Amino acid sequence: MLPTAFDYHRPTSLNEALTLLARLGDDGRVLAGGHSLLPAMKLRLAQPASLVDLGSINELRRIEVKGDRISIGAMATHADILTSAPLAKASALFQQTADQIGDLQVRNCGTIGGSLAHADPAADWPATVLALDAELDVASPTGRRTVAATDFFVDMLQTSLKSGEILCEIRCASPGDRSAYVKTDQKASGFALCGVAVVVDQKAKRVRVGVTGVAPVPYRAREVERALEGRTLDAESIESAARHAADGVVPLNDIHASADFRAHLARVNTARAIRRALGQ
Ligand code: FAD
Repeated sequence: MLPTAFDYHRPTSLNEALTLLARLGDDGRVLAGGHSLLPAMKLRLAQPASLVDLGSINELRRIEVKGDRISIGAMATHADILTSAPLAKASALFQQTADQIGDLQVRNCGTIGGSLAHADPAADWPATVLALDAELDVASPTGRRTVAATDFFVDMLQTSLKSGEILCEIRCASPGDRSAYVKTDQKASGFALCGVAVVVDQKAKRVRVGVTGVAPVPYRAREVERALEGRTLDAESIESAARHAADGVVPLNDIHASADFRAHLARVNTARAIRRALGQ
């Protein structure tokens, strides 16, 4: 099916994009890589009257690593992240996540910001930004605000972004070597049946675990984190903590996987991701 007719705008600065979105109101919609929005438009699930394409706003595609601080522009594609030398030097976590997203074409077009803003429950980046304890920088015509990754995902396909806002940047501390992303994919699409990102924060002496694909909303596996607090990370403590990876969530149950299987994957992938993060 073809989408309904729409106007197309391609601003070259963030301010221009924000002004356009403010003027267009509910008729306007941000376009990033288009890999989720365009299929939705073709199915007429989304019918925006105007698209505001962020593709010519270079500042939104910047990737920077300064000391142990990392910032990734929302328009950085999965391939940009996969091939960024400074990011690779900072941590393997970014490459591990980007490398497991879709195929080459998807990685060349899809953006980290589009993925987060779309909030598909089976997308990969949400698990990683949760484990990173990342901050998301959001711009509106009235200024900027910072949203913690843990507050960003509100419901299935819903975030705390308000109408007219643009997600600009993802910021975090470098997770270093002790981090990993482990995913079980849905064989046809490559999306996550269950993806678990783990960061062993050596400064704070704690483990952070982000889980995607399992529940309608990606989540931090707090019970796993709590079970590991103050414990030596050995085979026994990891196995026993990972059993809590689906505690308190109602797993998705659909044609791709049952709720029980998803919960099982959450436990298994959590143990694997912690072990991998520790180089075991
Ligand atoms: P778009 O489709 O352009 O936008 C998505 C939504 O976010 C729209 O509502 C748009 O208005 C909004 N938006 C976009 N950018 C911003 C912004 N900066 N600020 C505010 N709102 C914004 N993803 C995975 O994680 N894992 C996979 O394995 C995977 N496999 C895929 C396989 C296929 C065949 C396809 C088509 C996609 C797959 N994806 C996968 C998703 C893909 O990688 C993209 O991340 C995703 O489609 C959204 O990113 P986008 O840049 O295309 O956003």
